[in-house]
Amino acid sequence: MAIDTDRKPILLTVDDDPGVSRAVARDLRRHYGKAYRVLRTESGPQALETLRELKLRGDMVAVLLADHRMPEMSGLEFLEEAMDLFPRARRALLTAYADTDAAIQAINVVDLDHYLLKPWDPPEEKLYPIVDSLIDMWRASDERTVTWCQVVGHRWSARSFEVRDFLARNAVPYRWLTSEEPEGRRLLAAAGVDETSIPLVVTADSDYLVAPSIGELAERVGLSTEPNTDFYDLVIVGGGPAGLGAAVYAASEGLRTVLVERHATGGQAGQSSRIENYLGFPDGVTGDQLTDRARRQAHKFGAEILTTRDVVGLDVRSSSRVVKFADGGEVVSHAVLLSTGIAYRRLDVPGAKAVTGRGLFYGSAVTEAPACGGDHVYIIGGANSAGQAAVFLSRHALRVTLLVRADNLEQSMSYYLIRQIEEIPNITVRLGTEVIAVHGDEHLEGLTLCDSSSGAKHEEKVQAGYLFVFIGAAPRTEWLDGVVERDERGFVLTGRDLIVDGKRPRGWRLDRDPYYLEASAPGVFAAGDVRASSVKRVASAVGEGAMAIQLLHSYLERQ
Ligand SMILES: Cc1cc2nc3c(=O)[nH]c(=O)nc-3n(C[C@H](O)[C@H](O)[C@H](O)COP(=O)(O)OP(=O)(O)OC[C@H]3O[C@@H](n4cnc5c(N)ncnc54)[C@H](O)[C@@H]3O)c2cc1C
Repeated sequence: MAIDTDRKPILLTVDDDPGVSRAVARDLRRHYGKAYRVLRTESGPQALETLRELKLRGDMVAVLLADHRMPEMSGLEFLEEAMDLFPRARRALLTAYADTDAAIQAINVVDLDHYLLKPWDPPEEKLYPIVDSLIDMWRASDERTVTWCQVVGHRWSARSFEVRDFLARNAVPYRWLTSEEPEGRRLLAAAGVDETSIPLVVTADSDYLVAPSIGELAERVGLSTEPNTDFYDLVIVGGGPAGLGAAVYAASEGLRTVLVERHATGGQAGQSSRIENYLGFPDGVTGDQLTDRARRQAHKFGAEILTTRDVVGLDVRSSSRVVKFADGGEVVSHAVLLSTGIAYRRLDVPGAKAVTGRGLFYGSAVTEAPACGGDHVYIIGGANSAGQAAVFLSRHALRVTLLVRADNLEQSMSYYLIRQIEEIPNITVRLGTEVIAVHGDEHLEGLTLCDSSSGAKHEEKVQAGYLFVFIGAAPRTEWLDGVVERDERGFVLTGRDLIVDGKRPRGWRLDRDPYYLEASAPGVFAAGDVRASSVKRVASAVGEGAMAIQLLHSYLERQ
């Protein structure tokens, strides 16, 4: 049956006699039609199918009214199954006089709220008072329409984590349900799958996806993945602060701009639980908030933003720059901005790979924090990112231990964060301590630490359910090999860094030096953390993004 988009609570009737079915629906509509939607079905299986659709839509079902004697499935059998999907809906059975005994006996079996005798004329006396009381009972249950995306998964499922993290970082609101809780099981049943098919994503418009790829998910939740055209003034690779900053300035100055992001806009800053040193936010701003505002600002000026597109190649063809995607597509432009930032190094110790996404997380403290309630959480890292995570997680976890390889924090963490950490009683900082092994099969269970703070090395095994890793990050720029010059660590060289012994970079044919943020290929710029000798900060990344657009204008004018 086609379900319209009306989101009123539902009164659903099922009766195999079309005449009776129409009459009940007509009487209900006349009295309740303003506030409720009346749906009419003619068999138990058809009614169950409708309920499954309603469940996936996040609709509310207030009352179920079922005829007792139906050929395929009795009213009682239907109500029993319906309870699995909508346990809060109130239930009434429509019976003939001869079946009253059966109805009375069924009250306990299916937790029946009422039975109604046919015929129910006049409805004012025999139907509405009963339905009124059913509606009152249902209202007391405080059920709510679900208008956002729902994800059913498992706490220790790496794929479930990936999906949640992706939605959170792209500012798509969602409700998280585990496959063990009743409502999670109901959604799985409505989609016709079991707990082996997680994560299940039910979108806000009642579409459902079983274990979707991130690209599939992006499309279904309304994030753009395809460019609108095949030629732009500027392609920006990477959607962190530098890329978003550049997108705002470029689009606001009338350049046809597309930003291509492999995962979720916001980059590293998007993972920050609170940025306290960004200009204009005296009370701090979360990475999510900053990203959401920047994304909306870029959209407002007309920049296109593509997510889940991984850039794997760049070709310089005469005056065109060709950006290639991992899945084979490409987009052509006058100029390119590389703002691919840096990514966390993986923890290279025995056992780490097996539990990644199952207790061991890179960044992502914000997504996982609510699940850490009551647990002892470990964090590796001595920089601001680790410090922010410690402060944030201390509000959720029982205890937080910060594991720092160096013998002090002062060299790597801002003074304001060190002071905050000292004042939080459930944070312990262990200096001179490294994780040398990770334990657990299904999920993280323990760590082996090596403590050398006292001079001698001392190994210790600790129980741990959560480990957040914020260790040295590196640019992932291998795909730029042979296209632009990079330093020995992979950071892109620009401007004066390219002039060695007074000579311009190899292959440079223009009669000017590369601009300040220009790489060794003309018309290719770099901004933010990916650029050699940049300051690794949000403000500087945004600033370089803006500056790159000014230099781009000069490049386009002199072409
Ligand atoms: C948890 C945390 C907290 C921080 N807190 C602060 C703070 O309080 N104050 C501060 O000033 N700085 C802070 N920083 C540092 C700051 O976030 C970074 O300096 C800043 O984000 C750098 O911006 P960026 O745009 O250069 O790169 P990134 O933020 O690294 O963004 C790069 C983006 O490019 C994408 N990308 C990479 N390669 C490709 C590819 N091939 N194709 C498509 N897309 C690609 C990535 O997915 C990423 O989204 C923090 C960093 C972290 C991790």
